[in-house]
Amino acid sequence: MKETIMFRHVAVIGSGAAGLVAARELRREGHSVVVYEKGDQIGGAWVYTPQIESDILGVDPNRVTVHSSMYKSLRINFPREMMGFQDYPFVSRRNDGSRDTRSQETETALLFTEEEEIFDAVVVCNGHYTEPLVAEIPGISSWPGKQIHSHNYRVPKPFQDQVVILIGNKASGFDIKGEIATVAEEVHVADRSVADETYKWEKLSLPTVIIHCTGYKYYFPFLADVIKDGIVSVDDNRIHPLYKHVFPPAVSPGLSFVGIPQKAVPFPLSEYQSRWIAGVLSNRIELPSEEEMMEDIKAFYSELESSGKPKRHTHYMSDSFYEYMDFLAAQCGCPGMEKWRKEMEYATMKNVIARPGRYRDEWDDDHLIEEAHKISSNIFHYANDHLQLGIAILYARRVSH
Ligand SMILES: Cc1cc2nc3c(=O)[nH]c(=O)nc-3n(C[C@H](O)[C@H](O)[C@H](O)COP(=O)(O)OP(=O)(O)OC[C@H]3O[C@@H](n4cnc5c(N)ncnc54)[C@H](O)[C@@H]3O)c2cc1C
Repeated sequence: MKETIMFRHVAVIGSGAAGLVAARELRREGHSVVVYEKGDQIGGAWVYTPQIESDILGVDPNRVTVHSSMYKSLRINFPREMMGFQDYPFVSRRNDGSRDTRSQETETALLFTEEEEIFDAVVVCNGHYTEPLVAEIPGISSWPGKQIHSHNYRVPKPFQDQVVILIGNKASGFDIKGEIATVAEEVHVADRSVADETYKWEKLSLPTVIIHCTGYKYYFPFLADVIKDGIVSVDDNRIHPLYKHVFPPAVSPGLSFVGIPQKAVPFPLSEYQSRWIAGVLSNRIELPSEEEMMEDIKAFYSELESSGKPKRHTHYMSDSFYEYMDFLAAQCGCPGMEKWRKEMEYATMKNVIARPGRYRDEWDDDHLIEEAHKISSNIFHYANDHLQLGIAILYARRVSH
């Protein structure tokens, strides 16, 4: 029998892109929402700060942490159109002198609170680019040089005239090595996929700095009790068990996670996951039973294993991203990702390979940008009306430990 529609009181942990879109989707569904944020601004990872942590390698558990890992020169690595929400597109201004309609004033209530409150459900949106994952290198502790994780990299100046070894060559590593090579004496890259790349090489000198561009760990210090009770665990960067990367079956839908998948497009991903959670919480969308969800998780792990994917890549999407988005869309009863987005991602990937250092400035897919603009202009009015509602959430600054 179909359950009756219910509106719940929901806590959202974090006010980055995921937390904001979760709040919007939950409110649209009719739920009441409180967003908890440990920082003093909304925006999460996108709030740039020159501040770095007291332990620049990021391994001291008692260090003062800084949330954002953004470096000063960072430019987005997807075309902006791809990053937009479905009904809140990110399209550039066309130099027509008009104001960017996305900067409208909104109603945001910021409260500083220590009060306890009881919720029907908690949606975790705390981001996963803050807790550094550091390469294990035998004997490294006795090495006298400096070590830093890319989480604490902001500008190239401190690396002036240094001999740098950079471990990792993914998005951040790639950007940082290019920037550092303009000031360092030598930059060597060590990565699983490249034997030893050298960016400035005059003589082989003793390295003075190691920069670990080796990614991040999922980290939920505020869920210590849930972890202690065995409801979820984090091991080798696998959050277990999570049905479709969102719901821990034993406590669904009371606890859910948004934005966990990697090698995905985070903003639309969070939008669709949030819509699913909102619909499940109101009983509009049905979840499988706990047993069925566990079965699905087991089958997914077997699939990973048989395709040779390591455990630490459990939440990597890559090729399966659009299939996953179609799954979410089917659950929510909403249209899937637009065709132009898929094509734009494919074109961008090709462009990254063809023009590694220049892909952000030169491209061949103008026709897809045109398409994004055409579709976006039809929904701008709708988006702006709803934005007013979406951000009018109760935004409380408080950290749950
Ligand atoms: C260097 C770098 C470059 C990137 N480039 C791109 C890009 O080009 N395009 C793209 O789409 N994505 C990019 N990303 C990914 C980026 O993380 C996502 O775009 C997006 O910020 C994820 O949003 P989120 O809300 O999940 O997490 P976040 O933006 O990290 O927000 C999490 C929020 O939760 C808060 N929080 C954490 N713990 C608590 C707690 N205990 N209590 C209360 N609040 C808490 C934090 O303060 C923060 O405000 C990049 C990431 C990095 C690190």
